[in-house]
Amino acid sequence: MSVHLFNTLSRRVELLEPLHPGQVGLYCCGPTVYNFAHIGNLRTYLFEDLLRRTLEMAGLNVRHVMNITDVGHLTSDADAGEDKMIVAMRREGKTARDIADFYTQAFFRHADALNILRPHVVCKATDHIGDMIALIQRLEANGFAYQAGGNVYYDISRLPRYGVLTGQSLDDLQAGARIEVDANKRNPHDFALWFTRSKFENQEMTWDSPWGRGYPGWHIECSAMSIKYLGEQFDIHCGGIDHIAVHHTNEIAQSEGATGKSPWVKIWMHGEFLLADKEKMAKSAGGFLTVDTLIEKGYDPLAYRYLCLGAHYRQQLGFSFEALDSAAAGLDRLRRAVFALKQEAGGAFKPGALSDPSNRSDRSDRSDNPWLSEFRSHLFDDLNAPRALAVVWAVMKDDLPSPQKLALIHEFDKALGLGLETWTPPKEVIPQEILRLAEARAAARKAKNFAESDRLRDVIAAQGYDVKDTASGPEITKRSPKPV
Ligand code: AMP
Ligand code: ZN
Repeated sequence: MSVHLFNTLSRRVELLEPLHPGQVGLYCCGPTVYNFAHIGNLRTYLFEDLLRRTLEMAGLNVRHVMNITDVGHLTSDADAGEDKMIVAMRREGKTARDIADFYTQAFFRHADALNILRPHVVCKATDHIGDMIALIQRLEANGFAYQAGGNVYYDISRLPRYGVLTGQSLDDLQAGARIEVDANKRNPHDFALWFTRSKFENQEMTWDSPWGRGYPGWHIECSAMSIKYLGEQFDIHCGGIDHIAVHHTNEIAQSEGATGKSPWVKIWMHGEFLLADKEKMAKSAGGFLTVDTLIEKGYDPLAYRYLCLGAHYRQQLGFSFEALDSAAAGLDRLRRAVFALKQEAGGAFKPGALSDPSNRSDRSDRSDNPWLSEFRSHLFDDLNAPRALAVVWAVMKDDLPSPQKLALIHEFDKALGLGLETWTPPKEVIPQEILRLAEARAAARKAKNFAESDRLRDVIAAQGYDVKDTASGPEITKRSPKPV
């Protein structure tokens, strides 16, 4: 089954045709590690995780690369403002390295809690300064870079394709220019590749370069690292929609200018925003929500994953605790239903255990199973997770035998990443009132007053609890809600 994805570059849904059959090179812009990632940032990483899992479900061998921005990202995505790392150094009184290490670890702790698969390559900007310098030198050699005021800039007028991602021509850009004027620039949309001097001269993170001691611009790191790990042309590049106009536009300009190859990336994919109070959730706004905040409030982080799966990645998602509550309830129902299936089927799904060639419907772990085909067809159609989730619920409500349902869940969860098979119900705390009733019932049984003990069993049952008499005494369990 083929995979179709919406390409920001062509503005339509396209068939994915990997450059190297069976393999997909995937680059995702990573976090700027000057603060915690908020759950809006993580919505973008969840979308990218769904993409990777979907491609893997399609049998493709994905090489997933993500950078860590630990230098060069200014408070504006263009060349204005201060380096975000320096803002954090001032705020926390720590070194840039300590800040980067702390927030990188926090990022992966949160990503792990959301079952986001670790990229195959995680690369730090500060470890790749040499690669960035080499790429800037290629741009210089090809006539795309110029020096002014001690800095090195990219000359956008040299690339006719500049702005191809937004569909804006150079003239459109000129007309709409509202960029802070840097007198060194020939064109207000030119951007810095290397700074030796700028308005913040006391930049503490600097490196030697052919242009003097300084530091790189933000965009060059993604061009340099993606080319290093995925080659001069690759399949898919992702990020949030805020990266389209400046960061990704400039990445394309740099990479195509340096290599002379076009298109640099075949498919560009962008995740829509998570909104808080109808506005983009943002780090600068303060008071943003992190995975730790959700945990502190008693939520399982996977409830947030389930919430995100319920919205298509190209649609805005308004965050509210009411929405998270209903996602948590939905996930809880699904987990309990799968747990009940496991009990009915006598344990977890075992691959191959279901294959009975004589029975067409008993092939839930095979790709020709109609439920599995339907589930996949939705994900392969530009990652339509809400529809894929609807198939999960339809399977749970269907009267298929439990082992088959379980086999399907096993396959579905490879893409959903909800950990459905491993979940076990938390130990229930039995209320005092129920314990008291159970004691009274045990006493009635001991006194052979079976009418009374039966009556008390009914009273307990009416409150949603079952009492079972075992060799080690009465056992009380909360009755699980009807599976679906
Ligand atoms: P940053 O760490 O600021 O570079 O952002 C990391 C990723 O999160 C980028 O791909 C951004 O486009 C994305 N992003 C930022 N804000 C939001 C938001 N409110 N909702 C979804 N994605 C976001
Ligand atoms: Zn990037």
